[in-house]
Amino acid sequence: MSRYIERVAANILPLSEAKTLPAAFREWHVTGHVSDYEDTTATCELCEQEGLRYHFRITNKLNGNVLEVGSSCILQFELPMADGTAATKGSLDRLIQRYRTQRCLNALRAVAQAERSDILAGAMDYFDTHGCLSPKLAWVVLWRLRHHGIEHEPQWFKVTTRKSSQRRDLLAMRTDRVLTLWPALSSAQQQQYSTWWVRHLSLPKALASWS
Ligand SMILES: [Zn+2]
Repeated sequence: MSRYIERVAANILPLSEAKTLPAAFREWHVTGHVSDYEDTTATCELCEQEGLRYHFRITNKLNGNVLEVGSSCILQFELPMADGTAATKGSLDRLIQRYRTQRCLNALRAVAQAERSDILAGAMDYFDTHGCLSPKLAWVVLWRLRHHGIEHEPQWFKVTTRKSSQRRDLLAMRTDRVLTLWPALSSAQQQQYSTWWVRHLSLPKALASWS
């Protein structure tokens, strides 16, 4: 048995019902809970590998024991996700993504509360319900995220330009604000905006061309 497997066995067997590997692994699955240490300071509780940024929680379905482990071990031992599907690098990346988005939204909620900002709170409510933001609300959100240095990706905040009033708002927006918003726009929206910018000099014509 390699040292690696020895370490894994020493950590997982006392917390499992089965007394041998690989049977013990069949009792465990990924819960979906992620911890971000923001630096590479975490250690895998299974193989004891150091230098991890993220911990994924795994739990034993027979006794409820938990371990905080690295992604490599989950993939190496083919632990399933909570819904029974096999964990893949993609599914673990999605868990990290969901965790980061949630942390960003929580921080933004705290800002809205601290600043008593009805606009920001309203934007958050809109985003919760619709999963996207109008151009004006998206600008407010991205501006506050930047201002407070809250970790985010602009692409998390999809902008809707479905209504003509929303397109009007975007086309009439100050250029520096559009630049803040730009990474959140889809490539189609960027293209439509650019087309307007290049070909038209007046808002009415632009609105007519963007229908
Ligand atoms: Zn590990």
